[in-house]
Amino acid sequence: MIVGHLALPAIMRHYFPELEAAPLYAGSLFPDVMDKGLHSMRLVVNGRTIAHTLFSFTATTLIIAIFLGKKPARSWSIGYVGHLICDGGGDVPWLYPFTIHAFRPSDSNIWQKIRRWLTNPNPFEIMLTLWAVVLLFREKFHNP
Ligand SMILES: [Zn+2]
Repeated sequence: MIVGHLALPAIMRHYFPELEAAPLYAGSLFPDVMDKGLHSMRLVVNGRTIAHTLFSFTATTLIIAIFLGKKPARSWSIGYVGHLICDGGGDVPWLYPFTIHAFRPSDSNIWQKIRRWLTNPNPFEIMLTLWAVVLLFREKFHNP
């Protein structure tokens, strides 16, 4: 759902221009980059593990706040929680490691996931993407 995870921060930046772009987009992509990267290296059993938890959300937001400040941390946290909400229809280990979670193994690689995404698109992701495209075109062609 990488396209949807890029569309959501674009929509948020339109309505909340005070959000900083880099930490907003980074926070929106971080859970998949981390977990799917670990999964591609076969270090975890599927692409939604530790970075898809409220624990990781809280820890990384605190790290950003300490090293970069409150404003980037706010943008990071909004992007990050937006990612987790967008993934909410699937198997997301929200409360891990504080609760037991049965991580289901996945053998699909990144190319199989892309093919599945292309052949079976998510209507929510399509809606987010169209919304972001409309906003971007309006910004581009309606500004004096
Ligand atoms: Zn995800």
